[in-house]
Amino acid sequence: MPELPEVEIVKLSLKKTIKSKKILKVKVNNRNLRFKIQKDFEALLKRRKIIDVNRKAKYLIIILDDNKYLIMHFGMSGTLHLLKKEFDFKNTNLSFYKGQNFPSKHNHIELFFDKFKIVYNDPRRFGFVKFLNSKKELVKFLKNFGIEPLEKKFNIKYLKKILNNKNKNIKNILLDQKYISGIGNIYANEILFFSKINPNKLGKKINISEMKKLLVFSKKVLRKAIKKGGSTIRDFKNAEGTKGSFQDEFKVYNKDGFRCPNSLCAKFIKKITISNRSSFYCPDCQK
Ligand SMILES: [Zn+2]
Repeated sequence: MPELPEVEIVKLSLKKTIKSKKILKVKVNNRNLRFKIQKDFEALLKRRKIIDVNRKAKYLIIILDDNKYLIMHFGMSGTLHLLKKEFDFKNTNLSFYKGQNFPSKHNHIELFFDKFKIVYNDPRRFGFVKFLNSKKELVKFLKNFGIEPLEKKFNIKYLKKILNNKNKNIKNILLDQKYISGIGNIYANEILFFSKINPNKLGKKINISEMKKLLVFSKKVLRKAIKKGGSTIRDFKNAEGTKGSFQDEFKVYNKDGFRCPNSLCAKFIKKITISNRSSFYCPDCQK
Protein backbone atom coordinates (compact mmCIF):
# COMPACT_ATOMS: atom_id res chain seq x y z
CA MET A 1 0.00 0.00 0.00
CA PRO A 2 1.47 3.36 -0.96
CA GLU A 3 2.14 5.49 2.10
CA LEU A 4 3.13 9.13 2.50
CA PRO A 5 6.67 8.78 1.04
CA GLU A 6 5.44 6.94 -2.04
CA VAL A 7 2.68 9.49 -2.71
CA GLU A 8 5.20 12.31 -2.22
CA ILE A 9 7.38 10.73 -4.91
CA VAL A 10 4.40 10.44 -7.27
CA LYS A 11 3.67 14.10 -6.58
CA LEU A 12 7.20 15.23 -7.36
CA SER A 13 7.49 13.25 -10.57
CA LEU A 14 4.00 14.12 -11.78
CA LYS A 15 4.39 17.83 -11.08
CA LYS A 16 7.35 18.13 -13.44
CA THR A 17 5.29 16.93 -16.37
CA ILE A 18 1.73 18.11 -15.92
CA LYS A 19 2.04 21.57 -14.36
CA SER A 20 0.50 24.24 -16.67
CA LYS A 21 -0.70 21.57 -19.13
CA LYS A 22 -4.25 21.21 -20.34
CA ILE A 23 -6.39 18.06 -20.20
CA LEU A 24 -7.66 17.48 -23.75
CA LYS A 25 -9.65 14.29 -23.32
CA VAL A 26 -10.86 12.10 -20.46
CA LYS A 27 -11.67 8.42 -20.72
CA VAL A 28 -13.18 6.37 -17.90
CA ASN A 29 -13.04 2.61 -18.49
CA ASN A 30 -14.41 1.53 -15.14
CA ARG A 31 -16.41 3.79 -12.84
CA ASN A 32 -16.50 1.34 -9.94
CA LEU A 33 -13.61 2.39 -7.74
CA ARG A 34 -13.99 2.74 -3.96
CA PHE A 35 -16.33 5.64 -4.72
CA LYS A 36 -18.21 5.50 -7.99
CA ILE A 37 -16.86 7.96 -10.53
CA GLN A 38 -19.47 10.66 -11.04
CA LYS A 39 -21.43 10.76 -14.31
CA ASP A 40 -20.18 14.13 -15.49
CA PHE A 41 -16.54 13.45 -14.51
CA GLU A 42 -15.30 13.58 -18.11
CA ALA A 43 -17.12 16.83 -18.88
CA LEU A 44 -15.93 18.45 -15.66
CA LEU A 45 -12.28 17.72 -16.38
CA LYS A 46 -12.08 18.35 -20.09
CA ARG A 47 -10.16 21.51 -21.14
CA ARG A 48 -9.05 22.15 -17.55
CA LYS A 49 -5.54 23.40 -16.95
CA ILE A 50 -3.32 21.89 -14.25
CA ILE A 51 -2.22 24.63 -11.90
CA ASP A 52 -0.16 22.53 -9.51
CA VAL A 53 0.19 19.14 -7.84
CA ASN A 54 0.05 18.84 -4.08
CA ARG A 55 -0.26 16.20 -1.39
CA LYS A 56 -1.88 15.82 2.00
CA ALA A 57 -1.12 12.61 3.90
CA LYS A 58 -1.63 9.79 1.37
CA TYR A 59 -3.84 11.90 -0.90
CA LEU A 60 -2.56 13.34 -4.13
CA ILE A 61 -4.23 16.66 -4.93
CA ILE A 62 -4.20 17.98 -8.47
CA ILE A 63 -5.09 21.66 -8.44
CA LEU A 64 -7.06 22.67 -11.53
CA ASP A 65 -8.01 26.07 -12.87
CA ASP A 66 -11.08 27.89 -11.56
CA ASN A 67 -10.60 26.48 -8.02
CA LYS A 68 -11.42 22.91 -8.97
CA TYR A 69 -9.51 19.91 -7.61
CA LEU A 70 -8.86 16.29 -8.40
CA ILE A 71 -8.10 14.07 -5.42
CA MET A 72 -6.51 10.65 -5.77
CA HIS A 73 -6.02 7.94 -3.20
CA PHE A 74 -4.15 4.83 -4.24
CA GLY A 75 -5.89 2.41 -1.87
CA MET A 76 -4.09 -0.94 -1.68
CA SER A 77 -2.83 -1.32 -5.21
CA GLY A 78 -3.39 1.91 -7.15
CA THR A 79 -0.63 3.22 -9.41
CA LEU A 80 -0.35 6.18 -11.73
CA HIS A 81 1.34 5.92 -15.10
CA LEU A 82 2.71 8.47 -17.49
CA LEU A 83 2.76 7.41 -21.13
CA LYS A 84 4.32 9.50 -23.85
CA LYS A 85 2.98 9.81 -27.36
CA GLU A 86 6.47 9.61 -28.84
CA PHE A 87 6.71 6.05 -27.46
CA ASP A 88 3.25 5.12 -28.78
CA PHE A 89 1.84 5.27 -25.25
CA LYS A 90 3.68 2.06 -24.49
CA ASN A 91 6.24 2.94 -21.85
CA THR A 92 5.32 4.02 -18.41
CA ASN A 93 7.65 6.07 -16.29
CA LEU A 94 6.28 7.62 -13.19
CA SER A 95 7.36 7.47 -9.58
CA PHE A 96 8.62 4.71 -7.34
CA TYR A 97 7.00 1.79 -9.09
CA LYS A 98 8.13 2.89 -12.47
CA GLY A 99 8.79 -0.01 -14.72
CA GLN A 100 8.93 -0.02 -18.47
CA ASN A 101 5.97 -2.37 -18.76
CA PHE A 102 2.61 -0.69 -18.75
CA PRO A 103 -0.05 -3.02 -17.31
CA SER A 104 -2.58 -4.24 -19.87
CA LYS A 105 -5.47 -4.54 -17.41
CA HIS A 106 -7.16 -2.41 -14.73
CA ASN A 107 -6.52 0.92 -16.41
CA HIS A 108 -9.60 2.68 -15.10
CA ILE A 109 -9.04 6.36 -15.87
CA GLU A 110 -7.08 8.00 -18.68
CA LEU A 111 -6.33 11.72 -18.92
CA PHE A 112 -5.01 12.79 -22.31
CA PHE A 113 -2.69 15.78 -22.74
CA ASP A 114 -1.00 17.09 -25.85
CA LYS A 115 2.07 14.85 -25.81
CA PHE A 116 1.28 12.28 -23.14
CA LYS A 117 -1.45 10.71 -21.05
CA ILE A 118 -1.69 9.75 -17.41
CA VAL A 119 -3.47 6.56 -16.42
CA TYR A 120 -4.85 5.45 -13.08
CA ASN A 121 -4.45 1.69 -12.65
CA ASP A 122 -5.84 -0.26 -9.69
CA PRO A 123 -6.39 -4.06 -9.75
CA ARG A 124 -8.09 -4.19 -6.35
CA ARG A 125 -10.02 -0.92 -6.78
CA PHE A 126 -9.77 0.27 -3.16
CA GLY A 127 -8.42 3.58 -4.36
CA PHE A 128 -10.42 6.47 -5.77
CA VAL A 129 -10.31 9.55 -7.93
CA LYS A 130 -12.66 12.35 -7.01
CA PHE A 131 -13.46 15.75 -8.54
CA LEU A 132 -14.03 18.59 -6.09
CA ASN A 133 -15.91 21.67 -7.15
CA SER A 134 -14.45 24.32 -4.86
CA LYS A 135 -11.83 25.21 -2.31
CA LYS A 136 -14.55 24.83 0.30
CA GLU A 137 -15.07 21.20 -0.69
CA LEU A 138 -11.35 20.59 -0.49
CA VAL A 139 -11.08 22.10 2.99
CA LYS A 140 -14.06 20.00 4.09
CA PHE A 141 -12.49 16.87 2.63
CA LEU A 142 -9.20 17.44 4.45
CA LYS A 143 -10.56 18.67 7.75
CA ASN A 144 -10.47 15.29 9.47
CA PHE A 145 -6.78 14.82 8.91
CA GLY A 146 -4.30 15.59 11.64
CA ILE A 147 -0.96 17.28 11.32
CA GLU A 148 1.70 15.56 9.22
CA PRO A 149 5.04 14.55 10.75
CA LEU A 150 6.87 16.66 8.17
CA GLU A 151 4.98 19.81 9.13
CA LYS A 152 6.45 22.34 11.57
CA LYS A 153 3.33 22.13 13.72
CA PHE A 154 4.23 18.53 14.52
CA ASN A 155 6.03 19.37 17.78
CA ILE A 156 6.18 18.41 21.47
CA LYS A 157 3.18 20.54 22.29
CA TYR A 158 1.10 18.74 19.68
CA LEU A 159 2.30 15.29 20.76
CA LYS A 160 1.49 16.07 24.39
CA LYS A 161 -1.98 17.08 23.34
CA ILE A 162 -2.68 13.89 21.42
CA LEU A 163 -0.98 11.47 23.87
CA ASN A 164 -2.00 12.79 27.27
CA ASN A 165 -4.63 10.65 29.00
CA LYS A 166 -4.97 8.32 26.00
CA ASN A 167 -5.81 4.76 26.87
CA LYS A 168 -5.02 3.75 23.34
CA ASN A 169 -1.70 2.14 22.35
CA ILE A 170 0.94 4.24 20.62
CA LYS A 171 0.91 2.12 17.46
CA ASN A 172 -2.78 2.83 16.90
CA ILE A 173 -2.34 6.51 17.74
CA LEU A 174 0.43 6.84 15.14
CA LEU A 175 -1.82 5.18 12.56
CA ASP A 176 -4.91 7.21 13.40
CA GLN A 177 -5.18 9.79 10.62
CA LYS A 178 -7.21 12.18 12.73
CA TYR A 179 -4.22 12.64 15.08
CA ILE A 180 -1.30 12.29 12.70
CA SER A 181 -1.79 11.98 9.00
CA GLY A 182 0.39 10.05 6.63
CA ILE A 183 2.04 7.41 8.81
CA GLY A 184 1.13 3.94 7.58
CA ASN A 185 1.87 0.54 9.06
CA ILE A 186 5.37 0.04 7.66
CA TYR A 187 6.66 3.39 8.84
CA ALA A 188 4.89 3.19 12.24
CA ASN A 189 6.80 -0.04 12.97
CA GLU A 190 10.10 1.53 11.97
CA ILE A 191 9.51 4.77 13.91
CA LEU A 192 8.67 2.83 17.11
CA PHE A 193 11.81 0.72 16.78
CA PHE A 194 14.06 3.78 16.45
CA SER A 195 12.21 5.48 19.32
CA LYS A 196 12.62 2.32 21.49
CA ILE A 197 8.93 2.25 22.32
CA ASN A 198 6.83 -0.92 22.58
CA PRO A 199 3.92 -0.72 20.10
CA ASN A 200 1.48 -1.75 22.84
CA LYS A 201 2.48 1.04 25.21
CA LEU A 202 -0.44 3.31 26.04
CA GLY A 203 -0.38 6.91 24.88
CA LYS A 204 -0.69 8.23 28.42
CA LYS A 205 2.47 6.32 29.46
CA ILE A 206 4.72 7.94 26.85
CA ASN A 207 7.13 10.28 28.63
CA ILE A 208 8.73 13.48 27.36
CA SER A 209 12.00 11.88 26.30
CA GLU A 210 10.06 9.27 24.31
CA MET A 211 7.98 12.02 22.71
CA LYS A 212 11.18 13.74 21.61
CA LYS A 213 12.35 10.51 20.00
CA LEU A 214 8.99 10.05 18.27
CA LEU A 215 9.28 13.55 16.83
CA VAL A 216 12.80 13.10 15.55
CA PHE A 217 12.33 9.61 14.13
CA SER A 218 8.94 10.23 12.50
CA LYS A 219 10.56 12.97 10.45
CA LYS A 220 13.77 11.03 9.86
CA VAL A 221 12.13 7.79 8.74
CA LEU A 222 9.73 9.54 6.34
CA ARG A 223 12.39 11.83 4.89
CA LYS A 224 14.76 8.96 4.33
CA ALA A 225 12.03 6.89 2.66
CA ILE A 226 11.28 9.79 0.28
CA LYS A 227 14.97 10.10 -0.52
CA LYS A 228 15.26 6.39 -1.20
CA GLY A 229 12.33 6.46 -3.60
CA GLY A 230 9.88 4.90 -1.17
CA SER A 231 9.42 1.24 -0.47
CA THR A 232 8.68 -1.28 -3.15
CA ILE A 233 6.81 -4.11 -1.50
CA ARG A 234 4.18 -6.75 -2.16
CA ASP A 235 1.76 -4.82 -4.37
CA PHE A 236 4.54 -3.53 -6.56
CA LYS A 237 6.45 -6.74 -7.03
CA ASN A 238 5.91 -6.66 -10.79
CA ALA A 239 7.64 -3.36 -11.14
CA GLU A 240 10.85 -3.47 -13.10
CA GLY A 241 13.45 -0.83 -13.67
CA THR A 242 13.89 1.74 -10.94
CA LYS A 243 12.25 0.67 -7.74
CA GLY A 244 12.19 2.31 -4.37
CA SER A 245 14.90 0.92 -2.14
CA PHE A 246 13.74 1.82 1.34
CA GLN A 247 12.58 -1.77 1.85
CA ASP A 248 16.26 -2.74 1.97
CA GLU A 249 16.61 -0.56 5.02
CA PHE A 250 13.73 -1.88 7.10
CA LYS A 251 14.90 -2.53 10.64
CA VAL A 252 11.90 -4.48 11.93
CA TYR A 253 9.13 -4.49 9.31
CA ASN A 254 8.76 -8.06 8.00
CA LYS A 255 11.85 -9.08 9.98
CA ASP A 256 10.23 -11.43 12.49
CA GLY A 257 12.64 -14.19 13.48
CA PHE A 258 15.66 -12.10 12.49
CA ARG A 259 18.21 -10.88 15.03
CA CYS A 260 17.49 -7.40 16.40
CA PRO A 261 19.46 -4.86 14.30
CA ASN A 262 20.77 -3.27 17.47
CA SER A 263 24.26 -4.82 17.68
CA LEU A 264 24.22 -4.82 21.49
CA CYS A 265 21.02 -6.89 21.59
CA ALA A 266 20.79 -10.67 21.24
CA LYS A 267 17.00 -10.88 20.93
CA PHE A 268 14.94 -11.71 17.85
CA ILE A 269 12.30 -9.51 16.25
CA LYS A 270 8.81 -10.54 17.24
CA LYS A 271 5.62 -10.27 15.21
CA ILE A 272 2.31 -9.57 16.89
CA THR A 273 -1.06 -8.38 15.63
CA ILE A 274 -2.48 -5.08 16.84
CA SER A 275 -5.91 -4.12 15.51
CA ASN A 276 -5.56 -6.57 12.62
CA ARG A 277 -2.25 -5.12 11.52
CA SER A 278 1.14 -6.79 11.77
CA SER A 279 3.47 -5.24 14.27
CA PHE A 280 7.16 -6.03 14.43
CA TYR A 281 9.33 -5.09 17.39
CA CYS A 282 12.21 -6.08 19.63
CA PRO A 283 10.89 -7.11 23.06
CA ASP A 284 14.18 -6.07 24.67
CA CYS A 285 14.92 -2.72 23.01
CA GLN A 286 11.35 -1.46 22.89
CA LYS A 287 9.86 -0.89 26.33
ZN1 LIG B 1 16.74 -5.49 20.44
